[in-house]
Amino acid sequence: MDLWWSSAKEDTRRSLPRSKVNQPLQTPTIIDPLFGTRSVNRITPKQTKGTQSFGKRHNKSHTLCRRCGRRSFHCQKKTCAQCGYPAAKLRSFEWATKAQRRKTTGTGRCAYIKTLTVRFKNGFREGSQAKPRKSA
Ligand SMILES: [Zn+2]
Repeated sequence: MDLWWSSAKEDTRRSLPRSKVNQPLQTPTIIDPLFGTRSVNRITPKQTKGTQSFGKRHNKSHTLCRRCGRRSFHCQKKTCAQCGYPAAKLRSFEWATKAQRRKTTGTGRCAYIKTLTVRFKNGFREGSQAKPRKSA
């Protein structure tokens, strides 16, 4: 009797040449007590979520967002999954605390804020010349 779950069947599948892997060779029919007669094609490799399906990924759904710079702008929906562009307000949710932590003030260059306290201390003076420092 030819059992499709037997390990001997698995070994013959592995030894097949690459071109004949997808061809159904002598598909054994089993009689299932629940589902009746069905042909079991164990020669075709199973499509899984892992390495095999990664080869099928060739379509980009998201492209670069012009506001946040991440590749989260959905090409068909025309919205950014990260920042919500083109919505006026930045996309943010209370239930995503870690996501808020990653994009708040202090995570970037702080190009303007960095010098703000110094300029505030000196009263936002402009156009003055710095005095030459004398060595003591
Ligand atoms: Zn964005």
